[in-house]
Amino acid sequence: MNTDLAYNELLLNNISAERGVCLANHSTFKIGGECDLAVFPTNKEELVLSLDILKKHNVKHRVIGRGSNILFADEGFDGALVFTSRMCAVSVNDKTVYAESGATMKAVALAAAKAGLSGLEFAHGIPGSIGGGVYMNAGAYGGELSNALVYSEYYDTENNVFGRFEYDDHAFRYRHSVYSDRPELIVVGACFALESGDPEAIKGQIDEYMRKRKSTQPLEYPNAGSAFKRPVGDFAARLIDVSGLKGHSVGGAQVSEKHAGFIVNKGGATAADVLLLMENIKEVVYKKHGILLESEIEYVK
Ligand code: FAD
Repeated sequence: MNTDLAYNELLLNNISAERGVCLANHSTFKIGGECDLAVFPTNKEELVLSLDILKKHNVKHRVIGRGSNILFADEGFDGALVFTSRMCAVSVNDKTVYAESGATMKAVALAAAKAGLSGLEFAHGIPGSIGGGVYMNAGAYGGELSNALVYSEYYDTENNVFGRFEYDDHAFRYRHSVYSDRPELIVVGACFALESGDPEAIKGQIDEYMRKRKSTQPLEYPNAGSAFKRPVGDFAARLIDVSGLKGHSVGGAQVSEKHAGFIVNKGGATAADVLLLMENIKEVVYKKHGILLESEIEYVK
């Protein structure tokens, strides 16, 4: 089988890879079947070699960050998933922070705070990677990664070359960047420019945002963040709440009673449960408000 050949070649090149990996363990939703092959490169050279090997052996593949905005299918993934989570170096240089794509936003925010650099406090509580964050211009509490980003580096899997986007090349908007439109480009790192500040005050702001998150978001249950994008001029959570859907459930998936914008896994939820619940929500909200909600969570199958 092609996957066997790819697996053997990855191991021959000392790249960490595993067969039959349970995807629920790699998703904050704790949902998903198995993937044939999971690959864990530790730097951009290993990432490129992994992608080349998978391409050479015609193995269907996709790059995943920290799995915090994803719903993996119950059937799993019949190919290889390449996780960037071990490409996680972060370095601070004067007023800039450079992070490899698999570094968590939390680690980057903390490195900045320790160095007395302000501008990424909002990102600390977003449980994704820098690559996933740049891909969708993650944001919270009025901040977005695009506010501080200087450039990102990518690997172009079609032309097999590295490249770099300066700020203006990113076409940033709400939960969108050039990477959302061009899946052939894989973020390998990003650089942020920050302002000097008092480390104590920066840490205080991070703690304040975390307190806010804990009191308003259902962090006690597995979830994948906001289930729907913010529609123009409104909030998905408000529309879902006033539609009477708080607490509505399908199987183990439930519209959080704490925050209607979140779907939580109350225990044993399947991807099918989540998908059906999301369809129900869209239907009810559309009937009551004439607004068609768009999924923020990506379904990977
Ligand atoms: P994944 O979920 O692994 O992947 C998401 C997409 O990004 C996939 O299409 C994947 O292919 C792509 N991708 C990942 N890495 C790369 C890469 N290196 N190059 C190219 N494409 C890549 N989001 C917010 O914006 N604001 C919030 O406040 C917020 N709060 C959250 C709270 C909770 C409790 C949870 C569970 C999620 C929250 N999220 C929030 C959602 C999520 O954390 C973000 O969307 C994050 O940016 C996803 O990063 P990830 O590494 O987990 O990406």
